[in-house]
Amino acid sequence: MPHVIERATTGRAKCRGCGSAIAKDAVRVGDAVPNLFADKEGAEAMHWYHPLCAAYRRPESFLQALEGSDVELPDREALVALAADGVAHHRLPRLDRAERAPTARAACRACRVAIPKDAWRIALLFWQDGRFAPAGFVHATCAATYFETADLLDRVRHFTPALTDADVETLARDLAAGPYAPTAAGESDGR
Ligand SMILES: [Zn+2]
Ligand SMILES: [Zn+2]
Repeated sequence: MPHVIERATTGRAKCRGCGSAIAKDAVRVGDAVPNLFADKEGAEAMHWYHPLCAAYRRPESFLQALEGSDVELPDREALVALAADGVAHHRLPRLDRAERAPTARAACRACRVAIPKDAWRIALLFWQDGRFAPAGFVHATCAATYFETADLLDRVRHFTPALTDADVETLARDLAAGPYAPTAAGESDGR
C-alpha cells in the first residue's frame, strides 16, 4: 500500500500528528504503516494526517505521497521544504510539544542533567513498531543541540497550541540560549 494524499471523503478521521479531526474535503496525507497487531503477515494500516502535521512528523512518507500526485495543495513548496528539513535533521520528527516540567525528576536526553521543575522542556516521541511512543525530554535550552537546528519555534507552536504569547517569548529565549548550564535562579549564562 503506497502512501497517499487525497481529499478526505469523511470528517471522521483524526490526525495522528495533532489529534484533531480532519475536515471532510480537506486534503489529508495517508501514511501506510505495518500493522503488527493484525493476524495476517504483511498487513498494513493507514494513518491520516493534516498535510502540515505529516510534513513535520512523517516527512519521508509525506514526500513519497506527494510524488506524482496532482492533488492541489496550498503552500506545497513550503511544506516540501519543511519535510526536507525533517529528512535532513533526522531527530526533528521526534519533537512532540513544549511544556513546563511539572517535577524535577526527568533527565535531559541531550545533556543528562535533571530538568528543573517549571523549566521549559521539549517532549520527544520515538517512531517504533508503526507508531509514536513517548521517549523522554530535553531542556528547551538543549533543543538546538539535540535537533541539530535552531529553527524549532514554528514546529513547537504548531504542536503546542495552548502556548500564550508570554510562554512563546520565554520559550523562544530558551530555544535560542544554547546548551543548558545550571546556574542560580534558572538564568542561563550562555556557556
Ligand atoms: Zn494534524
Ligand atoms: Zn539538557
